[in-house]
Amino acid sequence: MLGTFTYANPTKLHFGKDSLKKLNEELPKYGEHVQLVYGGGSIKKNGIYDQVVELLKANGKEIIEDGGVMPNPTVEKLNEGCKLAREGKADLILAVGGGSCCDYAKAVSISAHCEEEPWEKYYLKFQDVDPDTKIIPVGCVLTMVGTGSEMNGGAVITNHESKLKIGHVFDERVFPKFSILDPTFTYSLPKYQMAAGFYDILNHICEQYFSGEDDNTSDYVMEGLMKSLIHSSRIAIKDPQNYEARSNIMWTATWALNTFVAMGKSTDWMVHMLGQAVGAHTDATHGMTLSAVSLPYYRCIMPYGLAKFKRFAKNVWNVDPAGKTDEETAKEGLRAMEAWMKEMGVVMNIKDLGVTEDMLEAVAESTLIMEGGYKVLSKEEILKILKESM
Ligand code: NAP
Ligand code: FE
Repeated sequence: MLGTFTYANPTKLHFGKDSLKKLNEELPKYGEHVQLVYGGGSIKKNGIYDQVVELLKANGKEIIEDGGVMPNPTVEKLNEGCKLAREGKADLILAVGGGSCCDYAKAVSISAHCEEEPWEKYYLKFQDVDPDTKIIPVGCVLTMVGTGSEMNGGAVITNHESKLKIGHVFDERVFPKFSILDPTFTYSLPKYQMAAGFYDILNHICEQYFSGEDDNTSDYVMEGLMKSLIHSSRIAIKDPQNYEARSNIMWTATWALNTFVAMGKSTDWMVHMLGQAVGAHTDATHGMTLSAVSLPYYRCIMPYGLAKFKRFAKNVWNVDPAGKTDEETAKEGLRAMEAWMKEMGVVMNIKDLGVTEDMLEAVAESTLIMEGGYKVLSKEEILKILKESM
């Protein structure tokens, strides 16, 4: 049964080829000072930077340069960005990049004018943005598909000193005001990043699917999203410039985590907690930290959510349950997922991400425990899953 909820998503999307031009509609809504957030330089190589700067200038904007956002943005970078925003009196933060740039932009938007220390307030104490805190509006031009950050309130920040990578999903006020999604902007992504994005998308859906035993519309929607992703990813991995496949994947990623399918149902998020702990210790690519821990985790919780794992096998991976026990069907579903993961070339173990045996205890220690899944894990089970992920 669906729970009670209030639903709104304030992000306006501009989707498709040439949608960057929509900046001409969006930019006039904001003041003169635009903090231009980008990563390590991919947008300078593929020409997106020049296009964005031209549009900003044509709209009379003064640019506050804020490049060098690293994958898995850090607390130090966040503090730097806040200083830039304050000194430059940013009226809009425009993130041009992947989830890292978009998450970082949101974190800066709520921290620049916050009196308290942002890491402590938002991440350690998990507090919301105070009603009187000035939030700088955020816009996004997406170049890497996977996180869904373009249409949600999520902002994940890494603290290398304390070995913690924590995501906080903020409310509507923090969602990007607009996002520009041009699938051709993703063509220049290295295959490794593209595949990591595929797994991030699948896992966002799984995190929301593998929870609860009720009958709800979201599960049917999620099965459709997963089928579309599996289909299009198989095309895109062989033919990265296939517009139909890349555009379907981009749209699926947004729907996978724009809060819609989570409405009224419970969710898990334990794979992300394990992956983020691995990320905090290795700084590895987000999607790959998830793929590397997933199968041992799902094999561990499968007996507690057998009916859903059977449904997953049948409805997503087309496993025929005839003549099989529920467990056999469920296991075959996970094997089909494993085969797809290998086909996509995602990382299958945490050793390949730089985790060594002597780090396992510490990684387990950094893993936050979620309670919405089929089984609340004990510290021993977390350690066991990590060992099996080696
Ligand atoms: P990302 O860290 O934003 O980008 C990964 C890499 O891809 C970077 O090296 C980047 O290079 C490169 N890249 C991006 N676009 C490119 C393009 N078009 N061509 C060539 N290279 C390109 O990756 P992401 O997976 O989107 O974001 C990961 C972060 O988001 C993690 O911190 C993760 O925890 C977080 N996350 C957030 C949510 C959420 O709900 N908000 C959900 C899941 C994960 P450059 O730096 O040079 O641009
Ligand atoms: Fe993710």
